[in-house]
Amino acid sequence: NLMFNLPDDEILPLSKEHVFWTWSAQAKVNPIAVKKAKGVYFWDVDDKKYLDFNSMTMCVNIGHSDERIIKAMQAQAGELPYAAPGMTTKIRALASKAVADVTPNKALSKILFTLGGADANENAIKLARGYTKRHKILTRYRSYHGATAGAMAATGDPRRVAWEPNLMPGVVHFLDPYRYRSTFHQSQANISEEDFARDYVNHLEEIILYERPDSIASILMETVTGTNGIIIPPSGYMQGVRQLCDKYNILMICDEVMSGFGRTGKWFAIEHWNVIPDMITMAKGLTSAYAPLGAVAMKPEIAAAFDEHAFESGLTYTSHPISLAAAVANIHAMREDNVLGNATSMGQVMRRMLNDLGESHPSVGEVRSIGLFGIIELVKDRKTKEPMTPWNQSSPEMNALKKYCMDNGLFLYTHWHTVLIIPPLIINEEQLKEGFDILDKALEITDRTVGG
Ligand code: PLP
Repeated sequence: NLMFNLPDDEILPLSKEHVFWTWSAQAKVNPIAVKKAKGVYFWDVDDKKYLDFNSMTMCVNIGHSDERIIKAMQAQAGELPYAAPGMTTKIRALASKAVADVTPNKALSKILFTLGGADANENAIKLARGYTKRHKILTRYRSYHGATAGAMAATGDPRRVAWEPNLMPGVVHFLDPYRYRSTFHQSQANISEEDFARDYVNHLEEIILYERPDSIASILMETVTGTNGIIIPPSGYMQGVRQLCDKYNILMICDEVMSGFGRTGKWFAIEHWNVIPDMITMAKGLTSAYAPLGAVAMKPEIAAAFDEHAFESGLTYTSHPISLAAAVANIHAMREDNVLGNATSMGQVMRRMLNDLGESHPSVGEVRSIGLFGIIELVKDRKTKEPMTPWNQSSPEMNALKKYCMDNGLFLYTHWHTVLIIPPLIINEEQLKEGFDILDKALEITDRTVGG
């Protein structure tokens, strides 16, 4: 194809000339020039092969270059590449049903399609405000909900602070049930999971009362916290949040942008706790990132609140047919290959490998995982839990660990003092071992700082 003609060795220089990079100091970027990807691997323009332990951006759940999804998108592009938001199409009808059918008990049966995760959260917030006629949104400190103004206001982590004070008003943050670093339980290491969960539900109720329940539209939470630490809710916590929402007529919104679509072994992580939220926001794994797409799945009564007056919002590209074709084919492929089952069984294998690393490396403070959603927390001292990197910073040790992995063909994501392990859900035991063998060596770098 002459239109796309560019020699491999010119991709990087031409990109550096014209691309403006997100989340980066422009002069410091050093991107991988990716040429192709297949299964759990991708290759750069020098034919260097990488094992993908981050599913690119925690999103290529089905694995790379799945022909079924590519063909579905090609066919849709040939049949009808676009239709206006107020029209409907065969693929819009099918995709809405396909998404509704994977929600817990099929209870969230009305679907609003967006372009990604941030605008899914923006729209969920608008729906909650419209439905409840209240304005406040409660979210947690250790959270990321997206980079648009409302989603950024909802975000609890330091990415928000860079944009203050000009963000959406009305967000109040609360604390996460993060056992390893729970401020209030330092001297209660043996507290039961149920009591621990109850303390954090009580903390949330206290905040609800201070803020006045009749001003709170919604509690928005990552069901399992992603980049901020794979924080898995203790047993009883989600049930407790659901009860508070029912008690005070607050809508419960689960942000499953990262935790959804098989990541934890279920379509949505919230299924682990048998709770049905009022809305679920999703993106990433919804199409396995073959095309941009997000969605808000809502209970029909929320949609019905807009039966007689308009929902005053929209997107030119809502329900884009090519993205919807990717979503339908992705959901179909996940079913066909029992990807959820693989995430569960390989999740157990990964847990064993994580535990082994924890036992043999003194710099590992704690490992956590659910399905193929895992993290290693690195510390300088297991007793004090002093993180390998201070809050919101990088450190030479973590940079060296990351570099070792990348040099050895293991692509993964590190965040402050943590290493995230979020591979495509089709990974097998041998491929997991390939990555963990590299990690096993890489952790010798951080081990050297322990007790020294
Ligand atoms: N919510 C969560 C939990 C996420 O992890 C992300 C992205 O990383 C988002 C929302 C934002 O999604 P997007 O980047 O598609 O806007």
